[in-house]
Amino acid sequence: MENNDHFETLAIHAGQPPDPSTGAVMPPIYQTSTYVQSEVGVHHGYEYSRTDNPTRTALQSCLAALEGADFGLAFASGMAATDTLFRLIHPGEHVLIGDDVYGGTYRLLDKVLRGYGLLFDHVNMADLEAVTAALRPETRLVWLETPTNPMLRLADIAAVSQLAHKAGAKVAVDNTFATPFLQQPLALGADFVVHSTTKYLGGHSDVVGGAILTSDPAAYQRLKFLQNAIGAVPGPLDCWLVLRGLKTLALRMERHCANAQRIAAFLAEQPAVARVHYPGLPTDPGHALARRQMRDFGGMISFVLKGGEAAARRMVTATRLFALAESLGGVESLIEYPASMTHASVADSPLAVDPGLVRLSVGVEHVEDLLADLEQALAE
Ligand SMILES: *Cc1c(COP(=O)(O)O)cnc(C)c1O
Repeated sequence: MENNDHFETLAIHAGQPPDPSTGAVMPPIYQTSTYVQSEVGVHHGYEYSRTDNPTRTALQSCLAALEGADFGLAFASGMAATDTLFRLIHPGEHVLIGDDVYGGTYRLLDKVLRGYGLLFDHVNMADLEAVTAALRPETRLVWLETPTNPMLRLADIAAVSQLAHKAGAKVAVDNTFATPFLQQPLALGADFVVHSTTKYLGGHSDVVGGAILTSDPAAYQRLKFLQNAIGAVPGPLDCWLVLRGLKTLALRMERHCANAQRIAAFLAEQPAVARVHYPGLPTDPGHALARRQMRDFGGMISFVLKGGEAAARRMVTATRLFALAESLGGVESLIEYPASMTHASVADSPLAVDPGLVRLSVGVEHVEDLLADLEQALAE
């Protein structure tokens, strides 16, 4: 691949030239655990599939190209990627996370890694003074999501990276919501990008996976060691499914964004809706930053109903096309109730969400059908 090829071209070709032995245009699913050696230690670069597998190599190369990274590592889930990255932090060292992060990330730090001596705090990443105040001499990693889940708040990746680097900390961005099509954190100064490929990158709600992308050679060497040592790796079929999803990422994201923009504007006009969180709305507090930092505003929307918990619980069961389910980023539209579903793991924490909040993952169906579905569900 040429380095100056465009995103859409890289998504289809990077890391996956036609198979040299057969000419297969699509990367084969190398469903094998081991590889023959002609002499002890003499092989084709593959020894055992926890360590390396050619289908995984293709996925890792493609994801790295899309994030503008030198190195990519794929994992069995987004949480496996997150956990492996946190293994760079030692007992007594400190991690600073956003105050609106994926519930599972908070749970991993609070209920698992805290027990191994990791220190962590959360802070509003949109408030740079608060970030400065929260950085400590022992802070090694700043972890941020932008837009956040479920509040769709924006953080300035370049500004937070500068502050973190000045304090001697590295920066990881969970880029699951934006995808590299909309936002490329490494170019803005971050050190690591983490993904749940389960979401937009896979794009069809048929696979669970994760990834870490970086251009830091020393960190990559350690992470590659950890990937093999811990072993939370994806199987070849799962890698192939994500590779297939990536090919249409740009097309899908354009439609996700266009549909979400229409739906956010519609919701903002509804008398039953108290607030809409969507960075594409000109009135959204993150709008100006989103215009600078992102190519478009994404497919995720959340909103608070005036009727509170009862109205929110009623609405999520009243839609016909929007399916009531956790997760996001597939071609099909989903609706969910964060307080008891995706964010149940932070229910009794400072990260608890508004009981009137509803979250939409806007799919790529025809927008008129989606609008009609929401209209009838709000009227019920
Ligand atoms: C889903 C998700 C994760 C966790 O990924 P899994 O693939 O479910 O393990 C992490 N961060 C964000 C923003 C997510 O949406």
